[in-house]
Amino acid sequence: MVLAEATNHAIADPGRVFLEEVIARTGPSCRLDMCIQCGTCGGSCPSADDMDHTPRTLFAMIRAGMREQVLHSNTPWMCVSCYLCTVRCPQDVRITDVMYTLKNMAVAGHAYPDSTAPDFSKAFIRNVETFGRSFEVGLTAQHYLRHYLTRLPSMAPMGISMLRSGRMGLTPPRRIRGMRDLKRILARAKALEAAS
Ligand code: SF4
Ligand code: SF4
Repeated sequence: MVLAEATNHAIADPGRVFLEEVIARTGPSCRLDMCIQCGTCGGSCPSADDMDHTPRTLFAMIRAGMREQVLHSNTPWMCVSCYLCTVRCPQDVRITDVMYTLKNMAVAGHAYPDSTAPDFSKAFIRNVETFGRSFEVGLTAQHYLRHYLTRLPSMAPMGISMLRSGRMGLTPPRRIRGMRDLKRILARAKALEAAS
């Protein structure tokens, strides 16, 4: 249905088609068409340095109809779902949700980047499956030791600042109380994904 509607506009404006498809897949509160390219999202994003494109740039590329480049970008894969961009966006664009949409579209089209991004995502999911929440130090250690060893020194100031402010702990977090329920939810989600 989404694709059928999109096809009707394809010849006239591929950018509009792509934008409408992303909005339709994200849901009625998406508001991506309200983006004014202010750059607040990219300026707020803790992962921006590791992204191929800032969220603002990615949204401009969607409007320009750059489907292949968008779906091959590592940007959605580097998003850690902190929601900082979403709460700061002056236009109430559901930026984090758009990142999930783009990841789903990339997976469906086997278009995810040949980069470290899916590996980062898997490491994050392993943490959630183990603790029920993210373990930032473990995630960073796993990913940066494996892929970005030379970048580790430049991460040190941010890491120390996060440790000092209590935003990050050195030891693994305690498992959440509802771990059994969470595992059931994750198993159900995997079953639905396999069936789709
Ligand atoms: S903060 Fe919102 S309006 Fe500004 S560029 Fe990002 S998505 Fe667009
Ligand atoms: S939710 Fe994702 S895109 Fe937004 S600021 Fe956080 S990491 Fe960046």
